[in-house]
Amino acid sequence: MSSPMSAIASHPNEALVLAYAAGALEPRLALVVSAHLALCSHCRALCHEAEETGGMLIDAMVPVAMSDDALMQVMARIEGKPAATAIPAEFDQLPPMVRDAIAASGKKMRARKRGVAALDLNGIDAKGEGRLTLYRIMPGAAVPHHGHKGSEITLVLTGAFADETGIYRAGDVAVGAPSIHHRPRAEPGEVCFALAYTDAPLAFSGLLGAVQRVLRPFGIGG
Ligand SMILES: [Zn+2]
Repeated sequence: MSSPMSAIASHPNEALVLAYAAGALEPRLALVVSAHLALCSHCRALCHEAEETGGMLIDAMVPVAMSDDALMQVMARIEGKPAATAIPAEFDQLPPMVRDAIAASGKKMRARKRGVAALDLNGIDAKGEGRLTLYRIMPGAAVPHHGHKGSEITLVLTGAFADETGIYRAGDVAVGAPSIHHRPRAEPGEVCFALAYTDAPLAFSGLLGAVQRVLRPFGIGG
């Protein structure tokens, strides 16, 4: 069952990958899915298939060909994209779209508690309503025990963490339902970088509850 190409055990559900392929996800959640795709050939294939099918539908619905000029403009935009700002070397091992988001955010890692730091990536889009945070958890350190008022999707980028629901390694996606109450702890050995997207504020049960932010729910996944 486990392919030699990939040890990824927990994937985002298909609906999320298809919604990503259709361009229907808000930018922060789209970043989490695209970073997973960078690490997961299985979901990448699913996404390509969906894009091809979707592309055929769009071709059938839009008979007016895109002008050569429009194409040139798109290419110019892509090629004219400014080089990313230099970011700390500790991020070198992260997927390129995550590094780009870090550079674009202009934010730095901030210590949350012993062994846990976080970088706020909410600034990557003004319209998005979820919260996107890059966590850095030192081996053996734990994120404070917390529950959720909404859903949380966490993508492991490096290392691994474990919580009450299982162990998650690089590429794995952990989905925390609103009812879950957990305390993710990084496994020994490697620094764990993880990208966490929440659709409503985390309800920290400890001291950090005092600093939780008030957010609007965003509505994906019911
Ligand atoms: Zn996958």
